[in-house]
Amino acid sequence: MATEIVTINNVRDRFISHPRPALWKDVSDKDWNSWIWQQQKRIKSMEVLEKVINVTDEEREAFAKSHEMFNMGITPYYASLMDPNDPNCPIRLQSVPKLGELTILTDELEDPLAEERDMPVPGVTHRYPDRVLFYTSHNCPVYCRHCTRKRKVSDPSSATQTKQLEEGLAYIAAHKEIRDVVISGGDPLSNSDERLEYILSRLRAMEHIQVFRIGTRNLVTLPQRVTEQFAQMVSKYHPVYIHTHFNHPKECTQEAFDVCARLANAGCMINNQMVLLKGVNDKPEIVKELNHRLLMMRVRPYYIFQCDMTQGIGHFRTPVEVGMNIIEHLRGWTSGMAVPHFVIDTPGGGGKIPVLPNYVVSHEGKQWILRNYKKKQFEYNEP
Ligand SMILES: *Cc1c(COP(=O)(O)O)cnc(C)c1O
Ligand code: SF4
Repeated sequence: MATEIVTINNVRDRFISHPRPALWKDVSDKDWNSWIWQQQKRIKSMEVLEKVINVTDEEREAFAKSHEMFNMGITPYYASLMDPNDPNCPIRLQSVPKLGELTILTDELEDPLAEERDMPVPGVTHRYPDRVLFYTSHNCPVYCRHCTRKRKVSDPSSATQTKQLEEGLAYIAAHKEIRDVVISGGDPLSNSDERLEYILSRLRAMEHIQVFRIGTRNLVTLPQRVTEQFAQMVSKYHPVYIHTHFNHPKECTQEAFDVCARLANAGCMINNQMVLLKGVNDKPEIVKELNHRLLMMRVRPYYIFQCDMTQGIGHFRTPVEVGMNIIEHLRGWTSGMAVPHFVIDTPGGGGKIPVLPNYVVSHEGKQWILRNYKKKQFEYNEP
């Protein structure tokens, strides 16, 4: 007989579920909560977007000039988080085109992280000694305007073919030094559960593979996709880490809370990789609030990425000091668990390099002069 576990827990009540825009008022809850419906009703045109928010002239012009290069796609759920009257709403900035996308700076590159160069077989980037990136889809529910992989995301001609998937699996099977596989894309959750299960089961059958991570933004943009069935499927292949991409506290809704709970209850560890974006999350208070919310959602802040050199995202890029300043305002001032690593994924394939505020004032022989988060100096002498 199943015993019901009674918990006294009001944490979920601190998260809100945003009201549905008028356009979808009459949609049944069943449809709204279905990821298939959410996928089918993605906003891809200005005509539909105009029914949800007050589109500005800039957004209209940017859409007209950019959508052939990089589609617009927004789930009704993600659109429901938008402020219809504020063009600087962080949800809008991440999903509706802006004119900045049309400007390509001289230092920007189509493939800034040289992911294609470090590809021994198509679909696998093997840069670090013991782990690989494995691309399994080129589709995402929402096309983030700041996407690093714009060059292939949203382009149907670059979809991962079965042959490529098999070649990738064969490469991973043959390379015994690989112990960690980052399943990426696009968004791996754009695959069916069956296809994902096939990939997970093939990887789990390899003796040298210890862990894998599923890198997905569906927790943020299409939480409906994270069904109980998906969570149960994943739980057969533990240890599974979920790496997600929340960028703003507004994205921490009750819907997101629920699917994080579902995955955590199914035994997944969830990490967050935030991208530092001008106007979205370039203030310490915003990142602190985001990270506090994530911890309540059982998600551990893992990385803050400096915005990379992808073409047409210059309007999002901040000076490196902005990221260092955020870390300066987190370390010591809040739980260490809420302090991620700030890294720059360096152009040309240098990989992720951490950038930290300097806490070492001086170091001579066995004497170290350090300063704490309040900038007070302390001495540590090695025996
Ligand atoms: C980010 C990345 C990884 C994973 O890096 P971690 O620091 O272990 O999270 C692996 N391979 C490539 C090519 C990457 O860009
Ligand atoms: S979810 Fe990730 S891969 Fe997809 S568009 Fe956004 S940033 Fe790019």
